[in-house]
Amino acid sequence: MTGIKEDKAFSEQFEVKEDLGKGAFSIVRKVVHTSSGVDYAAKIINTKRLSARDLQKLEREVKICRMLQHNNIVRLHNVFQEGHVRYMIFDLITGGELFDDIVAREFYSEKDASSCIQQILDSVSYCHKMGIIHRDIKPENLLLSSKKPGASVKLADFGLAVETEKKKHYYGFAGTPGYLSPEVLRKEPYDKAVDLWACGVVLYILLVGYPPFWDDDQSKMFEQIKQGRYEYLSPEWDSVTDEVKKLIDGMLTMDPDKRITAEQALSHPWIKNRDKVASMMH
Ligand code: ADP
Ligand code: MG
Repeated sequence: MTGIKEDKAFSEQFEVKEDLGKGAFSIVRKVVHTSSGVDYAAKIINTKRLSARDLQKLEREVKICRMLQHNNIVRLHNVFQEGHVRYMIFDLITGGELFDDIVAREFYSEKDASSCIQQILDSVSYCHKMGIIHRDIKPENLLLSSKKPGASVKLADFGLAVETEKKKHYYGFAGTPGYLSPEVLRKEPYDKAVDLWACGVVLYILLVGYPPFWDDDQSKMFEQIKQGRYEYLSPEWDSVTDEVKKLIDGMLTMDPDKRITAEQALSHPWIKNRDKVASMMH
């Protein structure tokens, strides 16, 4: 029981506090449900200038968020529309973006990276079982439940998520440049394997603090991705175990049909036998 009333307006029940984040169409702010004193995060969207297509996308995001209930996914509680403003009320996640945590720490130990990617894979595996492709997995859309070490990870932002078709399908050119898979860049029909590619990019970043594919010139970066050109540079990769490199290679496999699935990645020794593998690490 949240005590949030669907039949009462947003502004009668909530007080708006500070900004938490910003996206292309939305602003996310902390809000307090005044009668219970409970804090939430409200994704606030001005729908006035949105095209019919963008409105449809917004409905799709709401529908998909409502389908998903998982410990590693940000939970949507309610949606309010007041005039031209739409409020999506989510659990407040207070630890900030994984992005900022990587920047602050520079990189993760293998043990921490293994635990982090396991939680991400858990959420991705669940989405895939529910017939959802997220399409925008990246550290800005992964939130930490608190600032404490060992905080859990929550997947957020289903703004680009789609429901899967039975066969591979061209769902459109969508995502964030550095995380796009070769098949999306080639504008081929694709499937949930695109999320595993993005997980491979995230895991690589977690371990060294910089991305596998990068160039100031975006078209050159897209060439690197399409050719599957990434390296484990010396000296920073020298002390990293072969186990995790094999897992990254499984995720950054060019052929989406040969790419590791979320379920397979979860049974990979570097994840499953974390304590054993960790004892072999530097
Ligand atoms: P967009 O689709 O515009 O990218 P997001 O859903 O990614 O919007 O939200 C933008 C940012 O707001 C996130 O990157 C994050 O920093 C913050 N944010 C989103 N949801 C929450 C939440 N439930 N709790 C705390 N911060 C959040
Ligand atoms: Mg986002």
